[in-house]
Amino acid sequence: MKGILTFRIDYCKGCGLCVNTCPKKLLKISTEKINKKGHYVVELTDAEACVGCASCALMCPDCVIKVERA
Ligand code: SF4
Ligand code: SF4
Repeated sequence: MKGILTFRIDYCKGCGLCVNTCPKKLLKISTEKINKKGHYVVELTDAEACVGCASCALMCPDCVIKVERA
């Protein structure tokens, strides 16, 4: 199974909860990309490796991440 992630990036507050929950360690907080609210935002480091488990989406308190399975 493969996951296709989309991010409502302007709602991300860079809290890192999703980073810690990904079993594949595929998420990180950017050191460069800032959203409209001034937060460093989450990034997917390897889209091909995502298994679509949706742990990240469930963990995010701000519903930033949407996971579709392919
Ligand atoms: S869907 Fe699962 S594997 Fe993919 S980024 Fe989220 S937590 Fe990681
Ligand atoms: S996507 Fe959600 S859980 Fe992940 S850093 Fe942003 S606000 Fe936090």
